[in-house]
Amino acid sequence: MKTIDFRTYSSIKIGPKVQVKIINDIQDYSEFTIIGGANNLLVSPTPPKLAMLGKKFDFIKEKDGFLHIGGAMPSGKILSHVKKNDIANFELMQKLPGTLGGMVHMNAGLKQWEIFNHLVAIKTDIGWIKKSDIEHGYRYANIKGIVYEAKFQIQNGFDFELLEMFKKLRDNQPNFPSAGSCFKNPKGNFAGKLLDEAELKGFKVGNMAFSSSHANFLINLGGGTYKEAITLIEEAKNRVFEKFNINLELEIKVLGHTIDFPNVPFPI
Ligand SMILES: Cc1cc2nc3c(=O)[nH]c(=O)nc-3n(C[C@H](O)[C@H](O)[C@H](O)COP(=O)(O)OP(=O)(O)OC[C@H]3O[C@@H](n4cnc5c(N)ncnc54)[C@H](O)[C@@H]3O)c2cc1C
Repeated sequence: MKTIDFRTYSSIKIGPKVQVKIINDIQDYSEFTIIGGANNLLVSPTPPKLAMLGKKFDFIKEKDGFLHIGGAMPSGKILSHVKKNDIANFELMQKLPGTLGGMVHMNAGLKQWEIFNHLVAIKTDIGWIKKSDIEHGYRYANIKGIVYEAKFQIQNGFDFELLEMFKKLRDNQPNFPSAGSCFKNPKGNFAGKLLDEAELKGFKVGNMAFSSSHANFLINLGGGTYKEAITLIEEAKNRVFEKFNINLELEIKVLGHTIDFPNVPFPI
């Protein structure tokens, strides 16, 4: 067990101080909710039982012509490895905070560049699962259980221009703590545009706000709380539904109660 204070550990700087189980072997841990780097999480004051992968899963190695990466490996370390070894297709990890497990679970990415593009298979407690057997899409992968390891194709030619492009594309992100994009883009639309048109850009509740530079970033102005974050999420879902008849879907994962949105009168 390890004590994690989510006010310092999570990227949005919200949450309780709780005991988290450290996992260093492969078995059925379905009673736990797995976390990675907490860059996409909003953790409630009473979260479910949490676990995270330990040092055993913090590795990257070439084996049988594939690149094997452990679930606990952070994006920055993956990038350094592929840069040094002139391997392509991981440039999207530039300024994308997370662990391999979290990035695979979220199918993290930007525009057409997604983690699943060059993924070959993942290892969970039931063994290796091929990409073609995993239902996945935009910021979504139907994976039961923990991703302990994943293997990727190896293609030579690290692309420094692409790296620079990702840096530029993410340069407009606000400088305040956040958990990345708050809502997914609805088909054929942009969550940021809808929030802006619903006059939520810069909208504040207590010490939480939708950024005035990028409406889809829920930011912590300093000392923001879980309750303030949920109030803003509810307000945004309600306003966008009323104005555009669009039900915004959260990209951020809320680790909390079964009923987190008591004030949203439609299914979430
Ligand atoms: C400033 C900023 C910018 C961002 N930009 C982007 C972006 O451009 N594109 C993008 O896609 N995301 C972006 N994000 C969100 C975040 O970087 C990604 O979602 C990332 O994949 C989160 O990884 P994590 O390890 O922190 O996962 P966590 O936040 O800890 O967890 C996210 C989800 O993954 C699950 N999970 C974690 N580890 C495992 C595992 N080993 N096995 C199975 N499931 C697991 C968790 O249960 C949870 O459901 C951004 C976030 C921030 C703060």
